[in-house]
Amino acid sequence: MTGAINWTPKLRGNVFCSSACGSGCTLAQYHKAKEWAEWLALKCGPGWKPVVTENMGWFAKATKGKATVYKDGARLYSCFFSVNHQFIGTGSSPKYAIRDALNRALEHTESIAVAIEVIQS
Ligand SMILES: [Zn+2]
Repeated sequence: MTGAINWTPKLRGNVFCSSACGSGCTLAQYHKAKEWAEWLALKCGPGWKPVVTENMGWFAKATKGKATVYKDGARLYSCFFSVNHQFIGTGSSPKYAIRDALNRALEHTESIAVAIEVIQS
């Protein structure tokens, strides 16, 4: 044993899981996550990429630039917009979650601009 962590999933029967995970993730879960990731990317809009990750299960997300959108429950989506600060938005659709995260980022930017003006005036 080298002790190296291996996140490359291997297919054994209907199990599709890496040795690093070891949770017995299934090929069906992988395909479902892949479908969700592609759906999310489509719903988020042009330029969004579907991403599937494994860690005690298969999970879907869509990414663009510094933003990542997750399905977060039955009717909620989360958008993590991470620059120097992380802005987390939620909404009843991927686009609403993105808008919420970007609005929070813009509010923050405006508050910084106001703070700068106070110092410069
Ligand atoms: Zn696994």
